[in-house]
Amino acid sequence: MTELRQVSQSELAQLHTQLTVQYSDYKARNLKLDMTRGKPAANQLDLANDLNVVLAANEYTAQDGTDVRNYGGLDGLPEIRALLGEVIGASPSSVIVGGNSSLQIMHDTIVRALLHGVPGGSGPWLAQKSKFLCPVPGYDRHFAICQHHGIEMINVPMNAEGPDLGVIEPLVAGDSSIKGIWCVPKYSNPTGITYSNAVVERLSRMQTAAPDFRIFWDNAYVVHDLYDSTSPLLNILETCKQTGNENRPLVFVSTSKISFAGGGIAAMASSPVNVADAKKHLSFQTIGPDKLNQLRHSRFFRNLAGIKVHMQKHASIIRPKFEAVVSIFERELGGLGISRWTNPRGGYFVSLDTEPGCASQVVKYADEAGVKLTAAGATFPYGKDPDDCNIRIAPTLPPLEQVELAMQIVALCVKLASIERLLKR
Ligand code: PLP
Repeated sequence: MTELRQVSQSELAQLHTQLTVQYSDYKARNLKLDMTRGKPAANQLDLANDLNVVLAANEYTAQDGTDVRNYGGLDGLPEIRALLGEVIGASPSSVIVGGNSSLQIMHDTIVRALLHGVPGGSGPWLAQKSKFLCPVPGYDRHFAICQHHGIEMINVPMNAEGPDLGVIEPLVAGDSSIKGIWCVPKYSNPTGITYSNAVVERLSRMQTAAPDFRIFWDNAYVVHDLYDSTSPLLNILETCKQTGNENRPLVFVSTSKISFAGGGIAAMASSPVNVADAKKHLSFQTIGPDKLNQLRHSRFFRNLAGIKVHMQKHASIIRPKFEAVVSIFERELGGLGISRWTNPRGGYFVSLDTEPGCASQVVKYADEAGVKLTAAGATFPYGKDPDDCNIRIAPTLPPLEQVELAMQIVALCVKLASIERLLKR
């Protein structure tokens, strides 16, 4: 395959005319395909339907005798703390199990820090013009939390091993207003990479000017392997303890993409000091979480092995969709030198990079042909991708045939937008 930048202008113009005919044909079909949000498909949700029947009508007593129908149990039932602790590699006593959403726990953790500060710090983050490091491309909703609460965001490039520590280390060493970093360390959203041991160790060890620096370790895809093998990830709680920075990591997890999205359970794990601090604040926020849902989840999954078996069923449903995305990109775009895409081993996304300056045009063309993509720029703070090149593809929700059709259209739009750019040379 010849790279398009080596093709003459007249041949490019000819190719553009041909592709425009194909594009018009797609447009005439009035398609409505949605590739925007990373939601599980209905048949994935079906896998956990027995959550609705796993408890008999008279079953409402937890291991420690708690009546789960009643108030209380601020940090969650012992059995669910043990289960989620096993998932993220934390002891049950260092886990707080909350409501249904890890994003909510992250949001509330930030708001508490803004208003009250965190242990080891010098008061509320709000008073210190706090900043956060944001590995990019990253998860739009993390960035939205910062933007909503006026926390300045600093882009940090992601590479194949995780965020670039060469950029991070001098920044955190030199600026005490940098209070945290967002991390999706396993099968990251959207690039699908898992942080290397070296990255986790350097994050744990690095000198920070802020004594109250926190790593927001959103392990949303901790058990979300697409294949039989997993991508190993160092335990940040342990590495930070070894480097004397036990209070640095805050680990978040949920069963949103394990059981029911929005009907699952979410947790945070951290050092004894951070856990005690969070519990103190939580006691003003709630009298206790939904322990009935916790008991159902604990009975349904039982242990990490039960979750892993369940996740293999998810993988067999979604793996063909991921493989379709990658194989269509390889077939349609391979060798043209106009784009790069990830081939993830887990998680929920494929990340597509166009040539600089083309992503918004691709998203616009796709939209006009009936394919909704996540807005270009969404994977960057403030919705601004400085190179206008990243597009996040979420293949899990639509049926396989729709994923295939949508990706053919996206590949076509990438070609059109890239050729138009080359024609302007
Ligand atoms: N964290 C990441 C990285 C995600 O991709 C998502 C959902 O897409 C969430 C958190 C949301 O999790 P929850 O449903 O537990 O709030």
